[in-house]
Amino acid sequence: MAVSWVILVILVLNVVLVTSSPTPVNNYQVLAGHQVWRTEGEREAAAVMGRLEREGLVDVLGHGTVSAVRVFPESKDVVSASLRREGIKYQVVIPDLRSHFAEERRRVKKELLSSRQMETCLESDCPKPLTQRYMTFPEMEWYLHDLKARYSRVELKSIGKTFENRDIWMVHIKPTAARGTIKRDAIWIEGGIHAREWISEAVTLQLLDRLAADNTSLTRNIDIYSVPIVNPDGYEYSRTTNRMWRKNRSIDPSVRQDCPGVDLNRNWDEGYGVGASTNPCSDTYQGRNPFSELETRALKKEMERVSSTNNFRLVMAVHSYGQKLYYPWGYTREKAPYTAEMKSAGEAFAQAASVRGRGRRGTQYEVTSSSDLYLASGATDDWSKGALNVKYVYTLELPDEGFHGFALPPSHIKSASRDVWRGLKKLIPLAREK
Ligand SMILES: [Zn+2]
Repeated sequence: MAVSWVILVILVLNVVLVTSSPTPVNNYQVLAGHQVWRTEGEREAAAVMGRLEREGLVDVLGHGTVSAVRVFPESKDVVSASLRREGIKYQVVIPDLRSHFAEERRRVKKELLSSRQMETCLESDCPKPLTQRYMTFPEMEWYLHDLKARYSRVELKSIGKTFENRDIWMVHIKPTAARGTIKRDAIWIEGGIHAREWISEAVTLQLLDRLAADNTSLTRNIDIYSVPIVNPDGYEYSRTTNRMWRKNRSIDPSVRQDCPGVDLNRNWDEGYGVGASTNPCSDTYQGRNPFSELETRALKKEMERVSSTNNFRLVMAVHSYGQKLYYPWGYTREKAPYTAEMKSAGEAFAQAASVRGRGRRGTQYEVTSSSDLYLASGATDDWSKGALNVKYVYTLELPDEGFHGFALPPSHIKSASRDVWRGLKKLIPLAREK
């Protein structure tokens, strides 16, 4: 009898492990033959790659002293010819993305199985956002409901539905000691607008966990709003089908049905169109018109509401990767209002969030203007600045600097969250100074 119980427990454990591990349904087959190339020469490469991306020939993964791009199987020859013509050297760093991710999944699974204290997250019990693996969207929803159940100051509201009918959840962390009827300060944290940047949701949930639990002056008298998973359709598609998916999953019958999705961070109405693509097959497709998407419309409505009821002090959109804190504008090289203030408060964030050390032990955040390397429009940050006049506006690019890129192993969730929390504790009070 005892033996059969042991077997049963092992079987149940296996089921939990199997069902709760991030198992893609089709092995990322769509990425077969896709390569990652690295190019040298910052500005020249960024300009050429931007153009090729708008034409739907490559997918720009990140810029820096080297640029990384995903090159589609059918566009290898034309991209290579373009680069040669411009005198830009390149190197193939990942020859096949499908097998690259298959290998990565095997490694993470092995790590997961060997870790002694396995984190679990079930429908009825999800008390902490996970740090050993990336959560599924339903798990994140369960966690948000749990957060609301645990803290009376937390409100949870669906602010709309996506194209595939998932909820867009907004968390409101209320002040613990609100005084009178004066307009309170408010901050806004956006996570997961880009599907493949999984670390964004993971870190945003960790931050909400810490903010809700905070009983210091940091959060005593402010309203904190957050939409931690802006793009659940894209996130789930990235988990199950195409790890490199960036856009949402909407289909516009008046455009073309074979290229779904709009880049939600090119869909806001501020400088709309600059540096974005009008090609629906491009990863930076801006959509048919500004706010054509359910997600951006839902966010706009709520942010406008907050702006009318509160003193909106700070907007932070959390992305990956690059370890950068960007301030507006992104669509023009002109100076945005309060650039000096955004820069100096941003430096305080970066100093607190950066960890000294080389390689994996160190994380250095750099503060710079969004338009530093190339122009891009239609993003949350520019709209918050331009339409709502929020004084402190940032786009945060989480780790790393490109070694893992979007496929940052879940073992980094803890340190990335800890660092950002340190930075935020410096930034929030600075953003509230009049
Ligand atoms: Zn992003």
